[in-house]
Amino acid sequence: MKKIFIIMAVALLSFSCKNQRQGIVQDNFDYNVEQFADLGILRYQVTDWDSLSLNQKKLIYYLNEAAMEGRDILFDQNNRYNLAIRRTLEAIYTNYTGDKTVKDYEEFVVYLKRVWFSNGIHHHYGEDKFVPGFSQDFFTQTVRSLPTPLIPVREGQSVDAFLDEIVPVLFDPKLYAKKVNQDSSMDVIIYSANNYYGEGITQQEVEKFYGAMKEPNDSTPVPYGLNSRLVKKEGKLVEEVYKIGGLYSPAIERIVYNLEQAAQYAENDQQKLVIDLLIDFYKTGSLKKYDEYSIEWVKDTQSVVDFVNGFTESYGDALGIKASWEALVNFKDLKATALTKLISENAQWFEDNSPVDPLFKKKEVKGISAKVITATILGGDCYPATPIGINLPNSNWIRKDFGSKSVTITNITQAYEKAAAGSGFNDEFVYAAYEKDLMNRYSTQTNDLHTSLHECLGHASGQLLPGVDPDALKVYGSTIEEARADLFGLYYIADQKMLELGLLDNPDAYKSEYYKYMMNGILTQLARIDLGKDIEEAHMRNRALIAHWVLKHGQKDKVAELVKKNGKTYVIINDYTKMHILIGELLAEIQRIKSEGDFEAAKQLVENYGVKVDPDIHKEILDRYATLNIAPYKGFVNPYYEMIKDVTGNITDIIPTYNEGYAEQMLRYSKEHSHLPTYND
Ligand code: ZN
Repeated sequence: MKKIFIIMAVALLSFSCKNQRQGIVQDNFDYNVEQFADLGILRYQVTDWDSLSLNQKKLIYYLNEAAMEGRDILFDQNNRYNLAIRRTLEAIYTNYTGDKTVKDYEEFVVYLKRVWFSNGIHHHYGEDKFVPGFSQDFFTQTVRSLPTPLIPVREGQSVDAFLDEIVPVLFDPKLYAKKVNQDSSMDVIIYSANNYYGEGITQQEVEKFYGAMKEPNDSTPVPYGLNSRLVKKEGKLVEEVYKIGGLYSPAIERIVYNLEQAAQYAENDQQKLVIDLLIDFYKTGSLKKYDEYSIEWVKDTQSVVDFVNGFTESYGDALGIKASWEALVNFKDLKATALTKLISENAQWFEDNSPVDPLFKKKEVKGISAKVITATILGGDCYPATPIGINLPNSNWIRKDFGSKSVTITNITQAYEKAAAGSGFNDEFVYAAYEKDLMNRYSTQTNDLHTSLHECLGHASGQLLPGVDPDALKVYGSTIEEARADLFGLYYIADQKMLELGLLDNPDAYKSEYYKYMMNGILTQLARIDLGKDIEEAHMRNRALIAHWVLKHGQKDKVAELVKKNGKTYVIINDYTKMHILIGELLAEIQRIKSEGDFEAAKQLVENYGVKVDPDIHKEILDRYATLNIAPYKGFVNPYYEMIKDVTGNITDIIPTYNEGYAEQMLRYSKEHSHLPTYND
C-alpha cells in the first residue's frame, strides 16, 4: 500500500515492482536544476501534453491550482513555527542588502532551500531538525535590519519578543528535535515536533481519545481523527477539524474554489461526482463524506485525467492517525498503458513457453494490466520530494470491497533516469565503450520493459503444488518471489518474442539489461549500503542472488567475470547467449522452490548468494560513488502552466513551460498560493 519512494536515486538501479514506459522525450531537456546539502533538484517533463483536449487541459489547470493551495497547511502541520520561519527567511532572502559572499549568507541560503524542500525545519526523510550553518548573530541582526512590516510577528508582539520566541526554534538542538519520534521508550506525541496535537497532550490521552471512538463491530470504520488537530480546551480534548470555517479554512477555501472551477470541465459524470464529493468533504469535514469520495474515486477508471488532493498519508504522525495534506494531478499515459496491456494479453504464451517444469506452470494465466500516468503537478507532501508510484485509498475495508488504484508515474521515473545519466555514473562503473554504447542506446527502453515483464507477467506466473503453504519460504519468501519475477523478465527480454511484439527493435537490446543487471547486482547497488552491513532489502538481495549465481555458474565457461582495470573492479560479460541459458536454469529452479515450498533450498540460495558483501569491493564502490557527488535525495520543480487567451479573453490553449528555477518557484508559491495566517494556534 501507499507510496513508493526512491530514497537514493542511484542511476541504473532498476525500479522493480513498478511499471514505467517511455513516451516521447525531448532530447535537449535539462533535467538537473541544482544541488545543495544532500538534495538534488530535478525537473520533469509533461510528456504527450498535446494529446489532451482543451477541455482536459482546463480541467488539469484548475486541479493543478487546487494542488498548490495546500502548501501552507503542510508547513503548519509539520511544525507550528514553520510558517513563521519560512516567512522570516523569505523576507531576508528578498530584502537582504548585505554582502552575499560571506559564509553566513551562503549558509543561510542553503538553510532556506532546505526548509522549502522539507516543508519545514526537519529533514523530509530523516525527520531530524537541521542545524543552521549560519550564526545566531547573523540571523538576529539581519532580522532587525528588515523593515518591521516584513517580520511575521504575532499581533502586538515586539521584534525582540518575536526573536526570543523564534531563535530557539532554529538554534536550540533540543527544542523540536525530531518531527516524528518513533522511539517507543518515549512519549511519541510529546516528543514529536509536528503540529497534529496541541502542546502538552500525551500519547496516553490520544490513544484513549481515539480508542473510545472506535465501535467494536463496525466493519466500515471511518479513518477517525484523520483531518483534525487534537487540542485541550479548558481541560477537555477537542478536535479542531480541517475544513471551511474550521482550522486551515483560508487555504481550504482556495482549494475548493479551484475544485469548483475544475468540476465544470469534468470528463464525465463519475469524475464530476468525485470532485463534488471532495468539495463536500472540505466544506463539512465529515469523514463519512471522505469515505464516499474515496469509493467513487476508486470506481472512476475511465477518465484520462485523475488526481489526489487531501489529507492522505499518516507517516507524519507517530500514531498514524493524522494525515498530512498532499496533492498530485496526472493523466493516463495511454501508450504505456497499452504496452502493459499488450504484454498481459500474451501472458499465456509466455507461461507456456517458459523453461519452467510444466508441473509448476499455471494452466490459465492472467497477466496484470497496470495503469501508467504522467504527473502534471506535485503538491503538499508530494512536493518537491515525490513518490514514483501511488496505491490508494488507504482504508482497508474500501480496498477490500471496492478495490484500489495502483499507478506508476512514468515521467518522474524517466526524469530520475535521465538526470542520473548525466551524473558520470556510467563512466565510472561501466567497463568499456562497447557496454556504454549498449546502455546509451537501449537502457531506458530495456529497463522499462524489464519492469513491465516483471510486474505484468513475472509475479502472475507459476503455481504452487496442491497443499503447499504459501508462506513456506518464511523470511526468504519475498526475496525468492522478487527473484522469480526478475528472472521471468530477464529470460524473456532476450527472446525473439520481444521483436515480434514490437517491444524491442534490435536483437542486441537485451544485452544492455543483462550488463546493467550484473553490474548492479554485484557492484553498484552496494552504494546504498553502509560499510560493514549485509544486504537486507528483498529486492536488493534478489539482484545480488541472481548476479552472483550467474557469475558462479558461468565461471567454467567464463560467461561473466570480475576484472580489474587501473585498480578498479568492473563486471564484463563474455557470452550473452550462455547467460540467457543460465537465467532460464535459475528461473526453473526458483520456480520449483516456490512451487514445492522448499525452505532449505531457498535458504541456501539466498544466504549463499544474496546476503553477504565482499568488504573490499564494498569499500571500493562506496569510495568511487562518493567521488561522483550525487545527492542522495531528490525533489522536483513543477512546470509553470501558461494560459493562452485570444483577444476576447477566451482560453485557447494551456502550455507547460520549464524555465522556472527552484528558488523562483518557491517564492512564487509563497506569494500566490499562501493564504494561511502565520500562527494557527
Ligand atoms: Zn516485484
